[in-house]
Amino acid sequence: MKAIAVHPGSREVRLVELAEPTLREPHDVKVKILEVGVCGTDREICRFEYGTPPGCGEHLVIGHESLGEVVEVGSAVTRVAPGDLVVPMVRRPCPHDHCAACAGERQDFCFTGDFHERGIKEAHGFMTELVVDHERYMNVVPRALRDVAVLVEPLTIAEKALAQVWHVQQRLPWACSLVPGEARAHCHRAVVIGAGPVGLLGAMTLVNAGFDTTVYSRGAAPNAKADLVATIGARYVDAERVSVDALAARVGNIDLVYEAAGASQVAFEAMRVLGTNGIFAFTGVPGRRGPVSIDTDLLMRNLVLKNQVVLGTVNAGREVFEAAIADLATFTRRWPDAVRGLITGRFPLAAHRDLLLGAPAGIKNVLAFA
Ligand code: BGC
Repeated sequence: MKAIAVHPGSREVRLVELAEPTLREPHDVKVKILEVGVCGTDREICRFEYGTPPGCGEHLVIGHESLGEVVEVGSAVTRVAPGDLVVPMVRRPCPHDHCAACAGERQDFCFTGDFHERGIKEAHGFMTELVVDHERYMNVVPRALRDVAVLVEPLTIAEKALAQVWHVQQRLPWACSLVPGEARAHCHRAVVIGAGPVGLLGAMTLVNAGFDTTVYSRGAAPNAKADLVATIGARYVDAERVSVDALAARVGNIDLVYEAAGASQVAFEAMRVLGTNGIFAFTGVPGRRGPVSIDTDLLMRNLVLKNQVVLGTVNAGREVFEAAIADLATFTRRWPDAVRGLITGRFPLAAHRDLLLGAPAGIKNVLAFA
């Protein structure tokens, strides 16, 4: 079967032929991969800035944003059946008994760092025709979501961030504390930094949760992303023309910043205008471009005097995948064109080099395996 793999030793990214995997134990399931999204992490791995092959191997099959169909199940499998559409989770637990997170199937909070991530860290990923894995890592997706379900994994980023925001903001002792599903209130003003797939899915998640949402991103409107932002009932502000101070003047007290650009300078700039009792959630992983200058006294004064919280979030557990699947169904009902518009291209495997190594284009590009 075909797979797309990086070879860090020879610094190559290429299509390889691999033996088909087989079921090894009773809880294993075999999944035929249908689609895999290409993201910034994949592109970073293909520049050899990130990613580690499994064991002492020389190659890593990449890809972690996937959608597949179950084709075979082991004798003890109960969660899925052949024909089910599934989105597999990315992270696998570390082997240490003392890691309460991994022992409790919350490897997204692994304490040791010895977790594996399929397609990223010490485990092969999903840019291949068939994969075998334990049923506990599979999340079943309704057939009706076939054309958009490849967005589930990137959506889990916003879902996990927001789940934590709800938790943390329960500290606020008044009625407008963030309650899922409640109507928009004056303390639900969110700014999303970045209008890539993570930012736009984050904006959908926030609008759907009742936030007054502004997307702050580079590029003058009108443009495709700004149009999409308007369609979902959020506001688009061009970060090249509008300073963060002017942004804050337009928005009012910024209760939440959802950072989804992976650019540290603009993020810390925006942290300066985070509002009273606000929370700042980082999701991006910046490249190491060297130090930038920020006003740490101001940031620290604000953090203390305005009761602010800074949160980093990575990866996602089962509950969050399930929430993402449910929300994607809701978004697709509310904004069918906007959700489908996030997927700007479906490409055959032969296009992998352009997608992974060429200039970024569109919003979410997808490799179609079947
Ligand atoms: C993936 C996560 C992963 C993170 C860090 C992201 O692109 O979506 O699953 O934990 O990279 O490797």
